[in-house]
Amino acid sequence: MVLKVSRPANADNSGVYRRPQVLLRPVRCDEIPGILGKPKSYPAPVRPVGANYSQTRCVASDGGTALDMGGLSKILEFDDGCVRAQAGVRVGALVRALAERGLELPLTPEIGNISVGALSVTTLPQPSYGPGLAQLSSCVTEMKLITPQGKQMTVSERQRDLMRVLRSSFGMLGIVHEVVLRVRPLTPVKIDYQALPLADFAARFDEITTAPGALRLHLSSFQDRVTVERRTLDEEANVGRSGIWQIRNSVMRNVLPAFGSSVGSVLSAPGMRHAVLSGVQRALRATLDRAASGVVMHAHDWMRDLPEEAWKARYTYSLWAFPERDFPRIVGEYFAFCRSHQKQHRYRCNVVSGSSRLHQDRGSLFSVSYAGAACTIEPSSAGERGWDDFLIDFNDFASACGGTPTFNQTRSLLREHVSKALGDRGRLFRQLRNRTDPLNRLQNSYFAALLG
Ligand SMILES: Cc1cc2nc3c(=O)[nH]c(=O)nc-3n(C[C@H](O)[C@H](O)[C@H](O)COP(=O)(O)OP(=O)(O)OC[C@H]3O[C@@H](n4cnc5c(N)ncnc54)[C@H](O)[C@@H]3O)c2cc1C
Repeated sequence: MVLKVSRPANADNSGVYRRPQVLLRPVRCDEIPGILGKPKSYPAPVRPVGANYSQTRCVASDGGTALDMGGLSKILEFDDGCVRAQAGVRVGALVRALAERGLELPLTPEIGNISVGALSVTTLPQPSYGPGLAQLSSCVTEMKLITPQGKQMTVSERQRDLMRVLRSSFGMLGIVHEVVLRVRPLTPVKIDYQALPLADFAARFDEITTAPGALRLHLSSFQDRVTVERRTLDEEANVGRSGIWQIRNSVMRNVLPAFGSSVGSVLSAPGMRHAVLSGVQRALRATLDRAASGVVMHAHDWMRDLPEEAWKARYTYSLWAFPERDFPRIVGEYFAFCRSHQKQHRYRCNVVSGSSRLHQDRGSLFSVSYAGAACTIEPSSAGERGWDDFLIDFNDFASACGGTPTFNQTRSLLREHVSKALGDRGRLFRQLRNRTDPLNRLQNSYFAALLG
């Protein structure tokens, strides 16, 4: 039976403002049509909520009805080359269940909190191994959803265009309750690091991107350095649980944000603060240097479950993607932008910026590598004072450089950023939405402002 969950109307677990009037937790998919069909009891917007881990208000159901999909949490079937799961299953639970059977997703994110429903309809780019598969939704081969009119619908890869639109729909074309994902045999991944001065990175960029493997980059703006993390699939390699990798994860995700946060709150003099932060950056480099000799692991080993409530992670980031061919120049301009922002506003991010190399992927309309191969820049922070203003300026910088944002991971977006990056793709989505949901049951104010 659908559960009405009581909680204060202004509760906000994520640090991002949301204010539903009604919060429901369906436990069967056939409860959803009844909710969509009763606008008086369950006011618009009706917004499905997965892990509530997005960096933006894409999930917000201000004054409307939030559907916590966590009640639909069964992995239903492991079949030949695929797995069927309900929308509320967390990707961490799914990946572990697959690993027990010697299987894995073709792409594995670093956090396990993401729900399978959100994975299928949002933009989650990951370091990619080849064309056509650079974001998690491209692993989805079938979706079952309830349309805004309360109709049951099943869409598969055979309906390529419809699938492309649904994979970018953020719950605005229907509530997804079941998903089929492609899987493959568990394959060891060899991981190597190479720390390069920016000039060397730029000079060797073609060689770096044409060599096999997926690339995750770590951009140190104030040291003018790029650390290249290469992940190569290697069926023959022996997997050894590596302490170094655990240290790397811990430094990247725990130590740096925590350190930055305490530095930010304890030291007010910018000169001293930056001296300490540089020490942290040096510690990070030393850790990566120790790991440079090569580590072999399975992808699920790098996945971590963050706290249930996103704000407790004390880590926040934003994400834009840029055409791969321009990336060395853009990294140089990004470093210069960070320095000039610091000079002008006395603020600098206290965590290295991440970056993923993405092959072209047209599997979804809002894929950030839709037009061609791309690389992301992901400034990260513990969310200290100055971060929000930094992002406002960074968005203008990124948009001027021809960047593409996402609706779930790019903070402080403006409508002009979206229309410049998405152009016809945004207009096409808007037209489809207006036709399929004329009563606006599913669209919230966030998307109305950016796309509507
Ligand atoms: C600290 C932190 C670290 C992170 N690190 C990473 C990382 O390393 N790699 C990475 O890929 N991601 C990372 N993310 C997650 C990323 O920001 C995702 O945007 C987010 O987790 C999406 O999954 P979710 O289940 O939380 O979706 P939610 O935030 O709950 O929802 C996202 C969108 O999907 C819609 N939706 C949810 N469920 C359904 C459904 N069943 N049917 C239709 N629509 C639905 C919602 O309405 C909303 O529009 C991180 C997030 C945080 C906060």
